Amino acid sequence: MWGSPWRVVGTGSLVRRGSSSTSSRAPEVVLTHERYPVQRLPFSVVSEEDRAAFERMVPGRVIMDPEELEASNVDWLRSMRGCSKVLLRPRTSEEVSHILRYCHERNLAVNTQGGNTGMVGGSVPVFDEIILSTALMNQVISFHDMSGTLVCQAGCVLEELSRHVEERGFVMPLDLGAKGTCHIGGNLATNAGGLRFLRYGSLRGTVLGLEAVLADGTVLNCLMSLRKDNTGYDLKQLFIGSEGTLGVITAVSILCPPKPRAVNVAFLGCPGFAEVLQTFHTCRGMLGEILSAFEFMDATCMQLVGRHLHLASPVQESPFYVLVETSGSRAEHDAEKLSGFLEQLLGSGLVTDGTLATDQRKIKALWALRERITEALSRDGYVYKYDISLPVERLYDLVPDLRARLGPRAKHVVGYGHLGDGNLHLNVTAEAFSAALLGELEPYVYEWTAGQRGSVSAEHGVGFKKRDVLGYSKPPEALHLMRQLKTLLDPKGILNPYKTLPAQA
Ligand SMILES: Cc1cc2nc3c(=O)[nH]c(=O)nc-3n(C[C@H](O)[C@H](O)[C@H](O)COP(=O)(O)OP(=O)(O)OC[C@H]3O[C@@H](n4cnc5c(N)ncnc54)[C@H](O)[C@@H]3O)c2cc1C
Repeated sequence: MWGSPWRVVGTGSLVRRGSSSTSSRAPEVVLTHERYPVQRLPFSVVSEEDRAAFERMVPGRVIMDPEELEASNVDWLRSMRGCSKVLLRPRTSEEVSHILRYCHERNLAVNTQGGNTGMVGGSVPVFDEIILSTALMNQVISFHDMSGTLVCQAGCVLEELSRHVEERGFVMPLDLGAKGTCHIGGNLATNAGGLRFLRYGSLRGTVLGLEAVLADGTVLNCLMSLRKDNTGYDLKQLFIGSEGTLGVITAVSILCPPKPRAVNVAFLGCPGFAEVLQTFHTCRGMLGEILSAFEFMDATCMQLVGRHLHLASPVQESPFYVLVETSGSRAEHDAEKLSGFLEQLLGSGLVTDGTLATDQRKIKALWALRERITEALSRDGYVYKYDISLPVERLYDLVPDLRARLGPRAKHVVGYGHLGDGNLHLNVTAEAFSAALLGELEPYVYEWTAGQRGSVSAEHGVGFKKRDVLGYSKPPEALHLMRQLKTLLDPKGILNPYKTLPAQA
């Protein structure tokens, strides 16, 4: 019912699962090399002399305290655990350069870490790799309020950057549920998609330049702020989405769009997935240029958000829910379009119930229902996560298929995601990790996805967990070229070993 009394409680903020507040539980996470078949490569082991050398490079910022290290050795999902003994916190690109030059010479492996919110095990060491944290590289360098160009260090937290540019009348071109913790460098390194992709597109289009430090310590300054620059190969694209395997991103130049003056969010209940698709079709046709997000979630997601986070549904119980956001420059124009759209939906039977939010507090509360699904799932048990791109009309087919295949062996099988981008987050929860359940899921999910010519990683990247399934989405020639690029830029393979590239390419 439109305008029904508001029942959503609070907006909540991202809980950092691997943070020190939960570190007392960290030992429960099995060591990665005990759970997965992976062999340590012949890198050097950090010695006392190495520690002394690091202390000279980043005085007072060499962390060796096991308690402090524990949070950085365990990933957000608490599914992977490394045993690094050293964490370094550089403040500048020069410090990163000194560290990498030294590690390159000494053959020491390095794992770059941003906010440690990654979903594929890329952010934590597999064995004893040195953790290079960008947490102290958190300075905004400049903001140009004519062009909307932001230049900042890689360790800036996304939410803080959002605040910075919003105060100046702009928005960040990306937004995601992990915004309170993830770093812009991590966002670039994973080519994060998120909630604004439908409107502003991929980071590959909005990043104007970057600075990266290569494995041997070379500083590659491509920190341009130009919209157009066709002077040869676009080297920054190599680092976007390379997940810390080709270099450490140290600074970023990014184009921020103007802040929309009017934002509205409608939250709708749909009786079936066919109606969700039809709603999307109608939405695109009727809302056109003001449509800025179209997200969906199934009924189980809503139940889990209610059970684990105590967020209540603002609409009647339905098999599916969609969140439609509009962003425009004139409130009356958008309101008129939106009310026409909502009237049409109500009359058509495509939606069974809905609510509309125009003020900031309610908008945030509606978004929380969608953004916090990841958090609710992680409280439900061990999570098997799949993040796949599919033709939009087949987007949900795999969810009922898996429910039938797994039966009671899975606690919950859920589907949600960025419908407007053809991106399904398929999640299976269970009481604990089980190799047998994993065997039921893989390679089945990947084969199914490849059968639809989909992608086995839509936006989360490859990391450790997906490295051996790249072949489902890339031809052997592409994998071979990727390996050659890695060898060229990181001949000793010290940057994020065991990640992103298949063990055998
Ligand atoms: C609640 C929640 C919601 C999420 N929603 C989304 C979503 O909607 N869309 C999406 O795409 N992802 C999402 N994610 C996943 C994650 O937040 C993103 O992948 C994010 O971009 C990771 O940033 P980070 O700073 O935490 O990087 P980390 O997790 O620390 O690292 C991720 C990878 O990038 C590398 N890396 C980090 N910083 C650098 C650097 N400066 N230079 C080189 N390599 C680096 C790491 O080595 C690692 O391989 C979500 C995660 C959570 C917990």
